Amino acid sequence: MGRAIDGLLPQKEYDLLYCKAKLEARNYIPPFASEIKGFLDPEEGERLFELALEACLLGPCLEIGSFCGKSTVYLGSACKLRGRTLFSIDHHRGSEEQQPGQLYFDPEVYDAGKGVIDSFPYFRATLERAGLEETVVAIVAKSHVVARDWATPLGMVFIDGGHAYETVFTDYCCWSPHILPGGFLVFHDIFLDPSEGGQAPYEVYKLALASAMFEELPMTRTLGVLRRHRSVVVKQ
Ligand code: MG
Repeated sequence: MGRAIDGLLPQKEYDLLYCKAKLEARNYIPPFASEIKGFLDPEEGERLFELALEACLLGPCLEIGSFCGKSTVYLGSACKLRGRTLFSIDHHRGSEEQQPGQLYFDPEVYDAGKGVIDSFPYFRATLERAGLEETVVAIVAKSHVVARDWATPLGMVFIDGGHAYETVFTDYCCWSPHILPGGFLVFHDIFLDPSEGGQAPYEVYKLALASAMFEELPMTRTLGVLRRHRSVVVKQ
């Protein structure tokens, strides 16, 4: 170990320790996370885990669109490690593209008796299996309804609910004001090339960036990551 300057580790050694801690922390992601029903790539999941680890130093985390709990396990495992809470919002009736006859319809999460999608039993089983019941607060409602009386500042907001423009825009408007300075605003399904996927999340992502409230961090696959500025930026 090199000589510490003013009680601090030299940057190189700090970086090495930080990388080691990040790698060790990944052991806390349950091995079955990648097998949970959902649309998140494991690489995106690991990035969510790392972002949540950092975000938890500021405040609790919140996700919109938990479905069967895949992203919840990555985010929640980081929150558990930090002793923080993850608020997980989903009405569990499926998004537009998960309805019968649509591209992402999955008969396994369809309650034929009631004629509705119901992903909540899967979500609940995931929480049990991952040991996250003391970490995750499941909120079964539409995100704008939850936002109506929300007052808790957040270290991170992950938007992965409905992908229609109005839905993503509403989620952004409802939740981005609650992100603490230095906290993260993360979008799933950011496709820079329109031929690869719907553009609504990317449109709202660009809107967030244009607000000058956030700085852009590197993406991981389709995960768009913004960080709220720590101080006010005056746009010329
Ligand atoms: Mg998604």
